[in-house]
Amino acid sequence: MKELEILKETVLKEYPRMSREGCFNFKCHKDISCFNMCCSDVNIFLTPYDIIRLKNRLKISSQEFLDKYTFLPIDENQNHPVVMLKMRQDENKTCPFVGTDGCTVYQDRPWSCRMFPLGVASPKDEGERKGEEFYFMIQEPVCQGYHENQSWTVDRWIKDQGVERYSEMGELFKEISLHEFFRERKQLTPAKLEMFYMVCYNIDKFREFVLESSFLQRFDVDEETIVEIRKDDEELLKFGINWLRFSLFGEKTMRLRSDYRPTPRAASSVAAPQP
Ligand code: SF4
Ligand code: SF4
Repeated sequence: MKELEILKETVLKEYPRMSREGCFNFKCHKDISCFNMCCSDVNIFLTPYDIIRLKNRLKISSQEFLDKYTFLPIDENQNHPVVMLKMRQDENKTCPFVGTDGCTVYQDRPWSCRMFPLGVASPKDEGERKGEEFYFMIQEPVCQGYHENQSWTVDRWIKDQGVERYSEMGELFKEISLHEFFRERKQLTPAKLEMFYMVCYNIDKFREFVLESSFLQRFDVDEETIVEIRKDDEELLKFGINWLRFSLFGEKTMRLRSDYRPTPRAASSVAAPQP
């Protein structure tokens, strides 16, 4: 994780910054000499939406996906859980989804695989340029795609690779992962870290929690929303993010039912907004 921090610093200080109109050359195809070489020994952070797409693609539960394909990197500077894709334990540490013909989950590949060869950086504090997001070319020596004669703008690449839905869902995730609570260096309790992990990464377990615990007796949730979150993982994730904003940060994004009378024990488990 230390190397990632150093890389982030280098990107912010040294890499040329590109806007959506920035141009670059790139083409990736099966006959290129480096085919599949970028799918080994690579650090891939998975977003909540990446996990939904992949576990549905593989037709397995989020719990099974997490157990089989991910690990949680240990980093004492990390203020919330992050999930990474676990490479195979073979000589080259290949991605579990790479096959001889390329990516076997191509239509549902993670955000960072879609974006490559581009990266995105959001400087948090750089004086005048505070918070201004920019794109940059990832400098991957093995990749020959940069030398191909096909030109793109950043905007066209993003649309062509189907990144936009991922970005929309990513913006929602940022409402909690980049919350000012964390910028103020506050810490979540272990129980709240578990809530964060469940909503963001183990969406099927969160659904069970909402539908099979006393959750719906405590919170005022309309029928239409209940129907949606029963069948739609994306709707459930949006709902979960609102619940996290309420429960972790005390925002008024959920309402308790007016007829709910907590027992002393249940009262301690309902994280009510701070005044
Ligand atoms: S998910 Fe697909 S594109 Fe991404 S590293 Fe694995 S095989 Fe390569
Ligand atoms: S290294 Fe670059 S050109 Fe080669 S397969 Fe990977 S993305 Fe494509």
